[in-house]
Amino acid sequence: MKFWMGALALCGLAVTNAFAKDLDALVRADLPSLVERYKLLHAHPELSHHEIQTSAVLAAELRSAGYAVAEHVGRYPDGTQAYGVVAILQNGAGPRLLIRTDLDALPVTEETALSYASRVTSRTSSGVDVGVMHACGHDIHITTLIGVGRALVALKDQWHGTVMLIGQPSEETIDGAKALLADNLYERFGKPDMAIALHDTELRAAGTVSVGAGAMAASSTSVDVTMRGVTAHGARPQAAKDPVVMAAEFIVQVQTIVSRQMDPFIPSVLTVGDVHGGTRRNIIPGEVKMELTVRTFNDEARTSIIEGIGRTARGVAFTAGVPDELAPIVKVLDNEYAPVLFNDPSLTARVRSALVGKLGAQNVFDEAPEMGSEDFGVFGLKDHSIPTVMFQLGAIDPAKFASAAAHGEVIPGLHSSRFQPDPDPTLRTGVISMTSVAIALMQTTAIP
Ligand SMILES: [Zn+2]
Ligand SMILES: [Zn+2]
Repeated sequence: MKFWMGALALCGLAVTNAFAKDLDALVRADLPSLVERYKLLHAHPELSHHEIQTSAVLAAELRSAGYAVAEHVGRYPDGTQAYGVVAILQNGAGPRLLIRTDLDALPVTEETALSYASRVTSRTSSGVDVGVMHACGHDIHITTLIGVGRALVALKDQWHGTVMLIGQPSEETIDGAKALLADNLYERFGKPDMAIALHDTELRAAGTVSVGAGAMAASSTSVDVTMRGVTAHGARPQAAKDPVVMAAEFIVQVQTIVSRQMDPFIPSVLTVGDVHGGTRRNIIPGEVKMELTVRTFNDEARTSIIEGIGRTARGVAFTAGVPDELAPIVKVLDNEYAPVLFNDPSLTARVRSALVGKLGAQNVFDEAPEMGSEDFGVFGLKDHSIPTVMFQLGAIDPAKFASAAAHGEVIPGLHSSRFQPDPDPTLRTGVISMTSVAIALMQTTAIP
């Protein structure tokens, strides 16, 4: 870990020495140090809620680039500290622009053969040892933000206003953006006029980006369902109310909410991703716990599905003869809710035109909505009063991408143990595209 922090000193130098005011030349000069920083971040991932070193590295990098940096911003509902980073650079009158990176990694054991692959393991709260990996590429986002931060300092004569760079913890657990706002992010550091972010993707070659307007990622709602029964010997079902059978019935029936009760033109997904119950084969357990995720694009559909889950669970229990006092428990986890990610159409048009202007139309693709979720939309506030845009950054070696497309091969993607962004072209395009967008949005001294 010492080596990791020690390498910090090396990384701030490139831009300070660069005299070129041209963004491409600036990024060319800075790229070796960014790639080195990326590899160190990749080798040292930290899980959501535990981004201690990662946030410290980002804070130190941005401080040495000239930003006023606050650390340990954010508070979770249980009162624990979040490792948020807020870095501010004031540059005269003009708009206030928020640019966000996420910081956290995933409980995935890395299976790439990279020299800088993660060997980190961590113990979960339930005492299980797991591998930890930046399998969603948040290390690409962090490194990109460092490069953008430096470039915006070097190109200060090309924009006006205030940039607010955010290192957001706990994106994967969907409670990090909320933790920052709960710690009075905007009251303490100023309310931005607009907010932008990027996310890497295996669906595009490095060197390209994609963006779409409107609802781009579904809302995500976590629901816990506990089927309760009556425990007994496995050989005496007549003495039991078997929650394993009830859970099995529930899992099948609950799928008919989306397929048989919802309007087919309103996209929605319901997945049971986790089922736990019992200790051994000859004991009928007292309960089975299930974790569900619900994805929709509107509140009405979300409410209907949540009601359907409760109805289905109660119906299954009723059919099994479970007494009222052991009715299923259905709990919606408000803290894990992520709203729809909405790309404001007029801000998206400005972002797209900056991307096309810098990368060329042939490298800027249209992005389609998806059922995945993102908590970046939280920064736009419930009333969408702060326009937000997230665009996608191609992350795969272009030759590998072309060959996979030609042969119909699937490239390991986000959350895969074999996800492998190509650092040089991905970071170069990330820094150039995000810096160009930021400068384009901050041309005016007028506050929008
Ligand atoms: Zn992810
Ligand atoms: Zn991600």
